[in-house]
Amino acid sequence: MMVARGPGAVGCAHCTNIGADLACRICGHLICDGCAADWTTCSEPSGRAFRLGTSARLRDVDPSGHLGLVSHWIAPLRLFDMRRLRWVDAVELPRSVWLTNRPHPPRLTSDGYLLYADFAQVTSDSAATFIGIRRRNLRDGGSALIETDPAEHGTAVTAMHDVYSFVTQTQKIALIRHQAAIATMFEPLPRKVIHAGFVDAERMLLVAGSWCELTIHRIVADTLDRVDPLAVFHSLPIAARLGSLTPPAAVKPATRGSPDSAGAPGSLGASTGFGDSSASGTSSTSGASSAFDAPSAFGADLRSTAGTLELAARITPKAVGDVTWVALAGGWLVAAVTVGSGATSIEIRRVDEIAGGRLSVGPVVHTHAGHGLRAASLSRDGRFLAFALDRELVVHEIGTQNQDSFDEHTDRINLVRFVGPDHMLVSADNDNRVVMRPRTPGGYAVPLVEVEITDDEGVPL
Ligand SMILES: [Zn+2]
Ligand SMILES: [Zn+2]
Repeated sequence: MMVARGPGAVGCAHCTNIGADLACRICGHLICDGCAADWTTCSEPSGRAFRLGTSARLRDVDPSGHLGLVSHWIAPLRLFDMRRLRWVDAVELPRSVWLTNRPHPPRLTSDGYLLYADFAQVTSDSAATFIGIRRRNLRDGGSALIETDPAEHGTAVTAMHDVYSFVTQTQKIALIRHQAAIATMFEPLPRKVIHAGFVDAERMLLVAGSWCELTIHRIVADTLDRVDPLAVFHSLPIAARLGSLTPPAAVKPATRGSPDSAGAPGSLGASTGFGDSSASGTSSTSGASSAFDAPSAFGADLRSTAGTLELAARITPKAVGDVTWVALAGGWLVAAVTVGSGATSIEIRRVDEIAGGRLSVGPVVHTHAGHGLRAASLSRDGRFLAFALDRELVVHEIGTQNQDSFDEHTDRINLVRFVGPDHMLVSADNDNRVVMRPRTPGGYAVPLVEVEITDDEGVPL
């Protein structure tokens, strides 16, 4: 048992290391610098509520729950350390990155990268031209440009493994694996408009939602799991690096059902946009494209490829309308169906693995109905669903009748996210208020401690 023996010899109340000289704002005990840097080290079950300042809005939180991306009305994009509760110094991104990405917001990965759609020089008299997805290292500013079809909506990074995905204007789902320089394009619902997509990177499942339809596919080949992009790039002949890279022979076009229906390798060109003249015409402009001066590691020489899918389940929602949000985690599938002017029906179903790689999807076991759904999240273990109806935050323990409703947000909620190995629930509203709730044995109904955020005393990334 450690005994305090005066200044410098006090044991930290959180981790018991010697050298505690700061008072915890929750339990009041003395704690060390390390524990003061992460408010979640306190075992008192309580959350944090704070304001980021006038016009600031939290736009994204990385899957580990460490960094937040914040936009301002006029100022550049900034980063906020969600565990130290301080601004990150010396990392700023042009506001144009936010403005050009509103329909498909930039996303943070857990290891300090930001991915966003990049455009050729935006001028007042011409429309922006999409040139690819830029992955920026927030620490050193270096970046790579990854060619894909233009982004439309639904950007996301998976809870595990940092897989970035979004819905393209060509109604495919593009997937960029962590650190890969190639995007893989999937077509889970050919000839349909894709309203929602979701990637489960632990089981490599792809969920897609359209009008009155929902599919779950197994990702059986996405070319990236066996490619070290940098090694491939440097081993390519010069001609390939300059843009005439031919697709790997093993890659098959996206298919909806059995692998048997995949076309011959020769049909790849037509189905993936290889050789698309508009794409190749713009890829060479990447160097001059963005507001950044940092060099691009690749000049978008590596083209996206088509991935192969295997249908695991096809579901018809109970409600009639567009499936506008989907998530799959643990044994649960959650789908939000827009049923008319602002009204949403959220359907929860049980999902089980069955023989032959198929999934058995059960009937709807729980339905939430409401207006003004703006944001939703399913925890990585599938245990909790959180969603925002205007300024109300609802948290449901799936499979039970346990449900909490929180009303501390003072404006419409724009972000709801479970993050980190501790399943922290983050919510943010249009009035720059952010609330973080730790998971407790009793769920997320915890007292909140108000924290003042100052603009000085920033921390390094
Ligand atoms: Zn400590
Ligand atoms: Zn404490």
